[in-house]
Amino acid sequence: MTSKTVAGDGHEQRAARRERAVRAAVEQGLLGPAEPVAGLLDVAGIRATAAELRTAFDEIVAPGTPVLHAFAVKAAALVPVLRLLADEGLGCEVASPGELALARAAGVPPERIVLDSPAKTAAELREALRLGIAVNADNPQELERLDALIEPRGGAAPAAPHGRFGLRVNPQLGGGSIDALSTATATSKFGFALQDPGARDRVVRAFAERPWLTRLHAHVGSQGIPLELMAAGVRATYELAEEINAAAGRRQIDTLDIGGGLPVNFDSDVFTPGYREYARLLLTTVPGLFDGRYELVTEFGRSLLAKSGTVLARVEYAKSAGGRPIAVTHAGAQLATRTVFAPESWPLRIAAYDATGRPKQTAPGGLVAQDVAGPCCFAGDLVARDRPLPQLAAGDLVGLLDTGAYYFSNHFAYNSLPRPGIYGFTVDGGEVRFATVRSPQTVEEIVTESGGDYAGSLVDF
Ligand SMILES: *Cc1c(COP(=O)(O)O)cnc(C)c1O
Repeated sequence: MTSKTVAGDGHEQRAARRERAVRAAVEQGLLGPAEPVAGLLDVAGIRATAAELRTAFDEIVAPGTPVLHAFAVKAAALVPVLRLLADEGLGCEVASPGELALARAAGVPPERIVLDSPAKTAAELREALRLGIAVNADNPQELERLDALIEPRGGAAPAAPHGRFGLRVNPQLGGGSIDALSTATATSKFGFALQDPGARDRVVRAFAERPWLTRLHAHVGSQGIPLELMAAGVRATYELAEEINAAAGRRQIDTLDIGGGLPVNFDSDVFTPGYREYARLLLTTVPGLFDGRYELVTEFGRSLLAKSGTVLARVEYAKSAGGRPIAVTHAGAQLATRTVFAPESWPLRIAAYDATGRPKQTAPGGLVAQDVAGPCCFAGDLVARDRPLPQLAAGDLVGLLDTGAYYFSNHFAYNSLPRPGIYGFTVDGGEVRFATVRSPQTVEEIVTESGGDYAGSLVDF
């Protein structure tokens, strides 16, 4: 294979790069008996996806319109990933002090950071104002906290005369196929619920009373939301901004933050729907949004990283129970938490490899329906049930595909299983090079995190 076949951003090239990286991970010892699970990230794939996002919006906005693509940090809370995305011109959407610290550690400047959590403490708000990051207020009580910081009584200097403050609204347009990720239902916990009686007037008044409020924000949901519903949420937000600006008699709202949520296809290597498709739909649904009067912020997460990540895990044992073959691997609920607990909503493709990292050949008898289990001590710890795969054996490997977002950076510390190492890879001609994104968690670190320094504290009271 030449470098030509693995460069580029078509889905065949991505798949080819992944296969090369799996083999190289075994050859270079990233994965083996001592390190039975690792996460791999395709650096060229991430760069290509970021470029697709930029291009999709550049193609529809009036020339010169500022657009900030703020990556939703929760989707891949890894400092080198945030730095890579910053190198591609992206910022960060953060929702906790930890995520904010990661963005800052990655060198993302405050003017490219947006804070969105629904439960910001007073201290977090003060810190946000001090840094000058954008803040989207979630509810009336939070707005009152901002009032106290921005317009302090008794003539004290305002904390942030030039801040960028917005309101998150919930257009209450309905949910998608995954309840837990649908943020625009009638009773969603996020934002100002626009269709509740009197709510719209209260929002318009909130802006009239606060000249420093200059943004509106909506995020209609993640995964499972139809594109048309996402676009309708953006239209509702835009229409509200127009109403507020008309009431103010000026362009008080100068920025619209349209959230993220582009769904990912977990069925194949094809990247669909793409950013261009969504951008075109937005342009036809809300043309006024792109005529240059509003700055734009987006907050994509899953769609930027999912297709560039693979969890690779060794099959420790291959057994059988009740006639069902079971491959016991090192990738289970600690990494693929949603897939294990909500398998209908979060199915994953599983690739089977032999111990050298080459695609596992199908035996003459054909594919065999198998369970692919994880290492956690509960019966439901399965990443695939009854899945037709080449018959797996001890020492083989499985790849959990499309897991670059919300999988290996959202660890679930069940059974004190370690966070695996994560490695970025590039494929250049015949050579695969890896860079450490996160080293594997050590047993010593687990002991420390688990109160190891206070071993006697409960008996020595
Ligand atoms: C999670 C989240 C996002 C990102 O959603 P994706 O589905 O990963 O694109 C964006 N904005 C907010 C407010 C979020 O909570």
